[in-house]
Amino acid sequence: MPAPQMKPWIAEIAPYVPGRSGEAGKRTIKLSSNENPLGPSPKALEALRAGTVDPHRYPDAASHELREVIAETHDLEADRVVCGTGSDELLQLLAQAYAGPGDEIVHMRYGFMVYPIAARRAGAVPVAVEDEDYTADVDAILGAVTDKTKLVYLANPNNPTGTVIPRNEVERLHTGLRPDILLVLDAAYAEYQAGEADYEDGIAMARVHPNVVTTRTFSKIYGLAGARVGWAYGHPDVIGALNRIRGPFNVTSEAQAGAIAAVRDQDWVEHCRTENRRERGRLEEALAALGNHGVRAVPSAANFVLATFPETGDHTAEAANAFLSERGILVRWLPQMGLGHALRIGVGTTEETGELIEALRAFFGEG
Ligand code: PMP
Repeated sequence: MPAPQMKPWIAEIAPYVPGRSGEAGKRTIKLSSNENPLGPSPKALEALRAGTVDPHRYPDAASHELREVIAETHDLEADRVVCGTGSDELLQLLAQAYAGPGDEIVHMRYGFMVYPIAARRAGAVPVAVEDEDYTADVDAILGAVTDKTKLVYLANPNNPTGTVIPRNEVERLHTGLRPDILLVLDAAYAEYQAGEADYEDGIAMARVHPNVVTTRTFSKIYGLAGARVGWAYGHPDVIGALNRIRGPFNVTSEAQAGAIAAVRDQDWVEHCRTENRRERGRLEEALAALGNHGVRAVPSAANFVLATFPETGDHTAEAANAFLSERGILVRWLPQMGLGHALRIGVGTTEETGELIEALRAFFGEG
């Protein structure tokens, strides 16, 4: 009897590999998934926990209040905002809505792993573009565009490199794209760049260009990765497309309540930004001090740092990953992305960063 066959484009998907979690009962320092080590605002935590008052009722299908507070905070029109089960959901749905079999979707090779999955899921072909020194290369992206291209994903700041490109480069990319290509600006780490004059989070562009949409998340600085909430802002047609195909009750009541309180507590966001900046600086300094061992830290604009290691010998990234792992420190080694020579290290609390730095120094026989 013939068995059911998955579609060939689904069979081609390399499954998403999540950052490792610790073993039960063992103390771990988890720096593998770019989470906020300080967690959510205490007010958000309280609201999240109180959000389960009526578990027999469906959540607000349109996340009305959440969209309103997002709109107020970012000076947007609430009807041009849509919420998703994490920004993952929205990123995937954009591919599904705007690309199909025979089409192409362009993304950076060192980019978020969901982009090629989203492309394949839609039946489209993901086209990976080489970075220029771990940074998105606008000319290379434009050079990869063909008449089959329907969508371009660009994360700014980028994961897993942590690099950012300035506003004029994002605008140059947009100007170079045909108007029928959707430019998806993934600003998952935007809050870490707040106040940087040259930074483009995509909102201003999405306001005026029908072919630009920007996505955001509550999983990073807001510390609500487990609640799964993200949002997108764009032209009414793009938001309409997402609303047609998203799960009707895609954001749970708890998640909506937690996210609403999180947006209202911008003091917590500021606190987390300050803490992250300081600990990231410490981590980058410690990595620079290991430069004589062949370590290099790629300058980061986010809440993690990509560090490259010697390609051969006893002190490769793979060996460092194993060494840290034995000590309960979980970081991200990404050989499947062509980054076998690097580790992506999340910025932890002061204590966690201290332990990580000590362990890295011990790995290189220092200290
Ligand atoms: N975009 C980027 C660049 C990311 O790094 C992540 C999380 N790793 C996401 C989007 C998705 O986040 P979430 O689905 O939790 O909102």
